[in-house]
Amino acid sequence: MTIENTIEDLDVVILGGGVAGLGAALKARETGRTAVIFEARDSAGGLLDNFTIDGFRFDNAVHLSFATEEKVRNIFDRTPYLTHPSDSYCFEGDRWLKHPVQNNLAPLEPTDKVELIKSFLARPSALAGDDYESWLRHQYGDGIAERYPIRYTQKYWATPASALSTNWIGQRMRRAELDEILFGAMTTQTPNTYYTKEMRYPKAGGYKAFIAPLIADADIRTGHAAVEIDTAARTVRFANGAQVRYRNLVSTLPLPVLARITPDAPATVKQAASELKATSIDLVSVGFNKPLVKDLWFYIYDDDVLASRAYSPSVKSPENVPEGCSSLQFEIYSRGEESSYDGEALKQNTLAALEKMGIAKAEDIAVLDHRVLRFGNVIFDQGMEANRQCVLDWARGAGIASCGRFGEWDYLWSNQSLLSGYNAL
Ligand SMILES: Cc1cc2nc3c(=O)[nH]c(=O)nc-3n(C[C@H](O)[C@H](O)[C@H](O)COP(=O)(O)OP(=O)(O)OC[C@H]3O[C@@H](n4cnc5c(N)ncnc54)[C@H](O)[C@@H]3O)c2cc1C
Repeated sequence: MTIENTIEDLDVVILGGGVAGLGAALKARETGRTAVIFEARDSAGGLLDNFTIDGFRFDNAVHLSFATEEKVRNIFDRTPYLTHPSDSYCFEGDRWLKHPVQNNLAPLEPTDKVELIKSFLARPSALAGDDYESWLRHQYGDGIAERYPIRYTQKYWATPASALSTNWIGQRMRRAELDEILFGAMTTQTPNTYYTKEMRYPKAGGYKAFIAPLIADADIRTGHAAVEIDTAARTVRFANGAQVRYRNLVSTLPLPVLARITPDAPATVKQAASELKATSIDLVSVGFNKPLVKDLWFYIYDDDVLASRAYSPSVKSPENVPEGCSSLQFEIYSRGEESSYDGEALKQNTLAALEKMGIAKAEDIAVLDHRVLRFGNVIFDQGMEANRQCVLDWARGAGIASCGRFGEWDYLWSNQSLLSGYNAL
């Protein structure tokens, strides 16, 4: 493609072709405006995109839909889907427990159960601080908190629980109840208490199929990585040399990236943006030459297994694997945009984990892939909100509608990111 060295005038310019950018483009269409999405990669979808190796399709980390909003369901439900119960498991040491662990202690040794329940009964009656670790100790008692969520936090958030706020918890963490803990210590026949009972996934085409109608209708220019925004001249320059002038600018780029590529952003804003941290995610994707996996997803507490979580694309939909095969994808988290790991070492660690968990042996493996997502989950460091507000205030003042998971810098699911983009215009 030849990129002409002229500036194209456009009404609405949308940076990023993930679901938020697609939501903004939908709003533009509905309101009779002309919008163009500029996407850095060679395909749209962002975190909802996928990749296929030798007939094994993997999403970018676990993705299942529990959207309730009518606007979103009207789009997602155009794609035929499968429905899964939200059952998940936890691996610790040499055994499997149902999720959430504190309500499913039955498989543990009796002495361990007694200690954990005694510790729960002796839990602090008041919060010692407003950090996440204090919240965990107050909810579950020191025994359960230290053995499970405090340890898991280090793996999943790559940050100590003591440095996190509690602003992200919402419904995500089950509050502790004595009856539930006692019941689950005596039987494995416990009810599912996950905050959503039903998870939906496309029959074919990976999670991205849910947003295929949005992609089909949008004007998307791939291979356009924005590298400089001039808010005074209202122009965006791309790495391939193209330049556009906008009347309206929607950005779904991570706030730290947005501040970095905007030279006229004040130093205070650049500083605040540089303090915002997200996790990056190493994905180790494994295809098996036989049907070895039956669980949708599970959490891993052991420290020697670097992955904190794994899910099965083949359980999400058998269409994700060749006939008679199965698959898993493991997620390993680092603090910041750069992975802390060596890809080859992660593959070996994953192979050892598969043996330890009794899932597979080396001869069962048909595909083994490693890649990194630079932005995964926004980290709720204590005090993060002030830095986020500083950057958002500047963006609004500079005429940039910042939206999406990393543009709002929030813990948004795909349905919320779609609406974030939709409502940004
Ligand atoms: C581990 C994990 C699990 C998740 N599980 C679920 C789930 O089960 N269910 C659910 O509903 N949601 C889930 N989500 C959330 C969901 O992925 C997000 O809410 C959603 O995909 C975010 O969309 P977005 O458009 O805001 O951002 P992105 O998808 O990140 O899109 C941003 C786009 O901008 C592009 N871009 C970046 N820089 C530039 C640049 N300089 N120029 C041009 N383009 C650029 C990127 O390539 C990308 O395509 C999960 C997220 C993670 C990390």
